[in-house]
Amino acid sequence: MRGGYDHGWIGIDCMTDVLTQSQRRYCMSQIKGRDTTPELLVRSALFRKGFWFRVRSRLRGRPDIVFPRERVVVFIDGCFWHGCPAHATRPAANAAFWTEKLKSNVDRDREVDSALGSEGWCVLRVWEHDVKGDLSRTVGLIARAVMRRRTGTKRSKAAPGRGGVAQR
Ligand SMILES: [Zn+2]
Repeated sequence: MRGGYDHGWIGIDCMTDVLTQSQRRYCMSQIKGRDTTPELLVRSALFRKGFWFRVRSRLRGRPDIVFPRERVVVFIDGCFWHGCPAHATRPAANAAFWTEKLKSNVDRDREVDSALGSEGWCVLRVWEHDVKGDLSRTVGLIARAVMRRRTGTKRSKAAPGRGGVAQR
């Protein structure tokens, strides 16, 4: 694959130039709920690749996908609720409420990240729009991170480091 294709899938570097009307509509449709959620798309694609993972977790923040052996968790963050820099919109009505509500969501995400990270988990966050925009690339990045943890744990079991996995 091309170099630098990590860029944009983790929230910090969300690509603003990928915003399209259809993506915005997609984000809004997800709020109402659809059968084909981003979570289901990612899970089924990983499953087809032969990965084993848990989907129900009592871990902090309730990750969408958990790889217990590799200690990798994946959150698939909705653009609206988690404040995607590309698609974050705030309802005009009750603006103050929404500003506070969405900010607290983002703050909580960061707390979850650091808490899980300090417990040795590799925390991956994927934007909903990346799942929709390029599912195979997004899933490939998750798969690669998990595989890297596998080889990493074999080499240095005592040091469950971050293994160079992109995370925020
Ligand atoms: Zn987005």
